[in-house]
Amino acid sequence: MIKRILTGDRPTGPLHLGHYVGSLQNRVRLQHEYDTYVLIADVQALTDNFEHPEKLGDNIFQVALDYLAVGLDPEKVKIVVQSMVPELAELTIYFMNLVTVATLERNPTVKEEIKQRNFVKGVPVGFWSYPISQAADITIFKADLVPVGEDQLPMIEQAREIVRRFNRLYDKVLVEPRAMLGAVARLPGTDGGAKMSKSLGNCIYLGDSAEQVRKRVMSMFTDPTRIHPTDPGHVEGNPVFTYHDVFNPNKDEVEELKERYRKGTVGDVEVKQKLFAALDAFLAPIRERRAEFAAKPKHVHEIIMEGTRKGRALAHQTMAEARTAMKIAYKFE
Ligand code: ATP
Ligand code: MG
Repeated sequence: MIKRILTGDRPTGPLHLGHYVGSLQNRVRLQHEYDTYVLIADVQALTDNFEHPEKLGDNIFQVALDYLAVGLDPEKVKIVVQSMVPELAELTIYFMNLVTVATLERNPTVKEEIKQRNFVKGVPVGFWSYPISQAADITIFKADLVPVGEDQLPMIEQAREIVRRFNRLYDKVLVEPRAMLGAVARLPGTDGGAKMSKSLGNCIYLGDSAEQVRKRVMSMFTDPTRIHPTDPGHVEGNPVFTYHDVFNPNKDEVEELKERYRKGTVGDVEVKQKLFAALDAFLAPIRERRAEFAAKPKHVHEIIMEGTRKGRALAHQTMAEARTAMKIAYKFE
């Protein structure tokens, strides 16, 4: 049987370079080999944006545009809106019985994200327990493979534990998913922070104009120990060079820049200008395709609705099997 991919993104803003190298690139590469479902996780986005639900609609559209812009083929890939598949909420409720409070409290990603988010009125139960709903997202589609960035590994592990527990307790209905990391497991932010992240505002977005990309590159964090262009600089841990390594196909140029940077014979401005040129060459065709789809919003809406319809049909089927396995598919006549 053809294997299945499920992965997704929170519609908390448009997608950025981190998404590309962490996950999108693998989806584009594998979309013809795998039956691919991509979930726009608006329910999960609400867990920390519940005070601003009005943002979601446009963000869903923007994320869909990014998918199409990087080359996800709407004939192949099903783009599914999470809140339009109520079976996901149902499976989440049953999964809640299979996870202990202590396990959730240990989840390193959730711990880290709670620290970043500064919830003033305490951590919402929805946010704290999102690994459970994410396990439902993955397993309702019976995904074999989940292309994700490194921050998501604890989520996949949690999903695997739930699947083992469910299959052992009830019946072997669910599939144990496997994570697949991208070419770069965790792209740092333009501020030098460990992760480029929509919620941290340290991103270069796939849809940014050339001017925006130039501005973001020219104001990037580099080597804080370097005051003058003649000071010997540090390449390791310097996000400008990390991006050069990932996005500049001219490896000779990158090596030469590194050498000159270490010796103090090149300024940050030149290194950044060359990075901008490389990034712009990478982003220009994506930007162009994005604009083409953005000009046809009705077409994009249809793609989303069709993907969601197919996703829901599959979810409905898995849910029926799960209910039977749990012996709650009552037949009162
Ligand atoms: P938010 O800040 O709202 O959580 P995000 O930027 O972390 O947004 P998500 O929608 O949470 O984006 O992540 C979607 C996918 O992209 C996940 O698989 C995640 O691991 C991956 N991803 C996100 N940021 C990066 C990054 N900087 N490097 C590699 N992969 C990333
Ligand atoms: Mg995230």
